[in-house]
Amino acid sequence: MKHALPLLTTLLLTSLAVLSAADATKQKPNIIVILADDMGYADIGVHGCKDIPTPNIDRLAKGGARFTDAYANGSFCTPTRAALMSCRYQHRYGIEDLGGPLPAQAHTLPQRLKATGYVTGYVTGMVGKWHLGSTEGFTPVDRGFDEFFGFVGGGHQYIIQPGGKGEYNAPILRNREPVNEQRYLTDAFGEEAAAFVERQRESKNPFFLYLAFNAVHTPLQAIEKYRARFPGITDPKRQTYAAMLSAMDDAIGLVLTKLEETGKLNQTLIVFTNDNGGPTTRNAVNGSHNTPLRGSKCETFEGGIRVPMLMQWPGVIEPGTTYSKPSISFDISAAALAAAGADATAIDGVDLLPFVKGEKSGAPHDILFWRSRTMSNNYGARQGDWKYVHSTEGDAAPGPKQKPAQDMLFNLATDISEQRDLAAEQPAKLAELKKLYEAWSDEVDSDCRKLGLEPKFPKPAPDKKRTSK
Ligand code: CA
Repeated sequence: MKHALPLLTTLLLTSLAVLSAADATKQKPNIIVILADDMGYADIGVHGCKDIPTPNIDRLAKGGARFTDAYANGSFCTPTRAALMSCRYQHRYGIEDLGGPLPAQAHTLPQRLKATGYVTGYVTGMVGKWHLGSTEGFTPVDRGFDEFFGFVGGGHQYIIQPGGKGEYNAPILRNREPVNEQRYLTDAFGEEAAAFVERQRESKNPFFLYLAFNAVHTPLQAIEKYRARFPGITDPKRQTYAAMLSAMDDAIGLVLTKLEETGKLNQTLIVFTNDNGGPTTRNAVNGSHNTPLRGSKCETFEGGIRVPMLMQWPGVIEPGTTYSKPSISFDISAAALAAAGADATAIDGVDLLPFVKGEKSGAPHDILFWRSRTMSNNYGARQGDWKYVHSTEGDAAPGPKQKPAQDMLFNLATDISEQRDLAAEQPAKLAELKKLYEAWSDEVDSDCRKLGLEPKFPKPAPDKKRTSK
């Protein structure tokens, strides 16, 4: 009998510890970030798209929040992905161009999520396109992901050709090992993402899944199963694009169905966004539409950077919410860190959840900035309804047909299509935004140097004598 009390105490303490761990786990949602590649702003049902049904993407909007004024941190691939993974302006790590790598100094989103504890730490998986470094030390499994299925470069063939050469034919990897992949690539990514969720069925830990499609980036390749859905689209480019987008929507549907099957849907925060605006006139033109926005991928007009952003978390975010203050890619990372109770120090992102839930008024950011000095020397800022734009426009590459970049000022409240340049009418407002931009630009470059990294500057102009014919 004399051992009964200590035994009881031990049992009680053990039960409490188990309960407390279970409670802690219960409080942390699973997190899925779904990224599309080069999708047009207008090309989902909830943004008014009529010719390409996207029922699964729309379902996320209907079940949660839609951000009307959401932006990508960059106007093309790598910069936005670097901001998402580092939770900061990518310029602080010298990322301004394609390919990265994201330097080791960046403490990544999956690393932060994993560090939240033994029982409550996240199992992290990535499926899809990385584009933040291809060499050892910089691949997904080196940068915080327990599991990876996909490719490390900037794009890939969807219908894989054996023996193909070049970046777009690089091996599909499982962790670090090449696999013999035969599936249509978007189908493979959907199935692998669903399989990752299935593997977490009995796990006590929450999970983080980063599902980064290369759809609907070129090459324009579709299989008949999807193309057959669009007999009414006569433009062949738009028809293939529609088929590719429909495949991606199906793949997202597979993941949603798996979440339901495993009973995890109600404990999962799901975000859908895109890495940059649709390339309508330049850089891998794919038949996408950005209507009513001006411009294309690689530009600082709204068409290059304003993107769909949808966020669903049953029981937390009211279904059918619309949120219209400006938000940006790294806010998704901040929301994920906050939801997980993870380390959110030294980040630029702001947790959007209190704003969406109406607990916080005002705007998440006073001002947002963009800068791409290496692709075409575009930059700009948005403060309230004011937008400062210094952007080139409308050609596949810098050249004689491209309109030169100049300083422009728009008021998005009355001119979402950026048609009326107010620079001459409102020189003081233009000067104010320009000054803020320049101070930010100097600050991120200074931060970059403090980390022992070098900011990227424009490439020297090509030598006319050598390039002209
Ligand atoms: Ca892209």
